[in-house]
Amino acid sequence: MKPVAAALLACLFATACAQTPPAGDAFAISEVAPGVYVHNGQVDDWLPSNGGDVANLGFVVGSRCVAVIDTGGTPEVGRRWHDAIRRVTPLPICWVIDTHAHPDHVLGNGAFAGEAGVRFVAAAHFDKALAAREPFFENALQRDFGIRLTHAELPYPTVGVDKTMELDLGGRTLLLQAWPTAHTDNDLTILDRKTRTLYTGDLLFVEHMPVVDGSLKGWLAVLPELAKTDAAVAVPGHGAVSHDWPAVLKAEQDYLNALLVETRAAIKSRMTLAQAVDRVGAAEAAHWKLADRFHRRNVTAAYAELEWED
Ligand SMILES: [Zn+2]
Repeated sequence: MKPVAAALLACLFATACAQTPPAGDAFAISEVAPGVYVHNGQVDDWLPSNGGDVANLGFVVGSRCVAVIDTGGTPEVGRRWHDAIRRVTPLPICWVIDTHAHPDHVLGNGAFAGEAGVRFVAAAHFDKALAAREPFFENALQRDFGIRLTHAELPYPTVGVDKTMELDLGGRTLLLQAWPTAHTDNDLTILDRKTRTLYTGDLLFVEHMPVVDGSLKGWLAVLPELAKTDAAVAVPGHGAVSHDWPAVLKAEQDYLNALLVETRAAIKSRMTLAQAVDRVGAAEAAHWKLADRFHRRNVTAAYAELEWED
């Protein structure tokens, strides 16, 4: 049977047909600095309509081996990502770095498990965070994407970063840094010292509305510290790569700050949560894509965090 005919036949029986990438789709990657690569996910929510390919992914090539930064939102995205990396370099993949335990960033981990000598690394709190939500991620994959993923097919990190760690790839080192609770309680950034490229994970959103899943106050406290990083190129977790560091942080900081100030004011004036989600931060929210999906959720999280503060 010809491949195309086989694919069409497979479509008749597969719920996942709609998300099958078009033939010849090479899973686009760009080299943003020498030896430093990025795949830009779509600026969208994690959905079957985009195949779960929404997070930015990266890899850095040393003289000895390669480090992969995040693995994509489904096992299939992970496989395509792995193949794309293999088209660039035959060097061994010695590290897979998970920036945080959200499904769009980590559910491709299994595609890298077969690499000889590979180790998975993440922030120290990552395992606990992923373990708590893994059943929900697997249910969502099955229900919405028609993809079955078992615990055995999702490798967890075996190396945890408490504060910082250096990885030597041969001829270049990566600085991994774990942060206090901000976007999540397990955010990790990666700095390639050689090119001063900073992979921020979801500590930085560009275009895509920031999503509060850790601590609003914590995130606002982390941003000025993150801004001190000596970076020339910033790869956000979502949205376009930026050469305007640290100025690129400002839009996110403004939004989060409006969320903090206006939620506090709402609580002080005894607004209910239902009233607050309709009113807080509306002007700032209008600047972001996906505000309809995430803004009310953010206000809810902010309200819960700030309700009983002094
Ligand atoms: Zn995230």
